[in-house]
This record gives sequence, C-alpha cells and structure tokens, in this order.
Amino acid sequence: MIQDLINLFYPNICQICDTELFKNQNVICTNCVNELPITNFHLDNENSVKKVFYGRVPIENATSLLIFRKKGSVQKLIHSLKYRGHQEIGAYLGKWLGEELAATESYSNIDLVIPVPLHKKKLRARGFNQVEEFGKHISAALNIPYVDDVLLKKSFSSTQTLKTRLARWGNIEESFILINSDKIKNKHILLVDDLITTGATLEACSDVLLQAENTKISIATMAFTG
Ligand SMILES: [Zn+2]
Repeated sequence: MIQDLINLFYPNICQICDTELFKNQNVICTNCVNELPITNFHLDNENSVKKVFYGRVPIENATSLLIFRKKGSVQKLIHSLKYRGHQEIGAYLGKWLGEELAATESYSNIDLVIPVPLHKKKLRARGFNQVEEFGKHISAALNIPYVDDVLLKKSFSSTQTLKTRLARWGNIEESFILINSDKIKNKHILLVDDLITTGATLEACSDVLLQAENTKISIATMAFTG
C-alpha cells in the first residue's frame, strides 16, 4: 500500500528510456536491456579490454560488461549513476556481470574484489564511490570479500600548481598507495571500475597492488570505450 503510494508520486522509471517500469522490472525496462551493447568479453581470454594492458602490466583476465558510445544508452546509465546518484544502476550492472563471471571458469579462482578508489575529497563531494555497488554485487555473486581499505588514491594537495600545469598538457599521472598489504598477499584480485578508456588508471592501480607479495590481478568494468 505504502509502496503503491510512493510509486504514484515517484514512478519507478527505466534509467534509459524513462518509461514507467512494470512491477517485475528493475532499473532498466526489458526493451532497453535487450538493446544494450553487451561484449561477452569474459568468454574470450584475448579480448579488446585485455589487449589494452599488453606490454604494460601483467593481467590474468579482463572484461567489460558493455560497450560505451558517446550519446548512447550506456553513457546515459553511467551519467545517471555518477552525477544523479542512481546507485541502483551500479548494483544492477554488478549483479549482472557477477552472475556471468560466477559461471565462467577463468574467473573461478578470484579471491577478492577491490574498487578503484576515489580521492577522499571527491568522495566527500559526491557522497559515494560510483563503483562501490558494482563491486559489492560482483563480490556477492562470486561469494568473495569486497575490500576497500587496501588501495587509496593519493593526495596531490602539495603539488596543486604542478598538477594544474601538467593537467593542461593532458599528461597528469594518477597516483595510488597501498596500505594493509597483508590483506592481499597471495591473492588473485578482481579490480573493478566504471569505465576503461586508455587503461591508465587501472594500470596505475595494478602496479601498486602488484607490490604486495604474490598477487595476481584481473579486471572488470561496467563499460569499455574502445
Ligand atoms: Zn527502457
């Protein structure tokens, strides 16, 4: 009854086409789900996402659920998640990819999920890490821990002027630090992020995680811009 009233004033709408969802639908309507550009990269161990890292950093397996196109439906989803706080989108995509990975041999020996972190100032401004629900739902589907107190984004505050100067040239390096490294010793880590474009962020994170003793890295993102 209360839920019906809430739905009357705040109808549950599809996050892509804005039509009202039926009671058995969740986040994205059936038509839009069927139109989503899925990659099925998890079924191919030499896919385009994995190739991004060739010659850069050793990665066991890498996949993205969807293909990102400018002005496409996937861009709309990620925009709603990041800037309009629709965290149910991250949960939905994480549950979906998590179930796919749980049924895939090459992802069966992963021990834990680690999200690409936000800097704490950005976290405070946005209120949430857009990758958190995605990562937590993947970890739930794989029945492994979600660990967000090992990899941190480093502060640039002391080099703000230099950062601005470098950013203008477009070659700013992101930087991450490792704490509690015992937690990931001898572990196969699934590193998760929203988008992969050049792979620079995921490469920087992997470099840091690989400093811990005997770790292996695989990667999963919501979407791939290639
Ligand atoms: Zn729709």
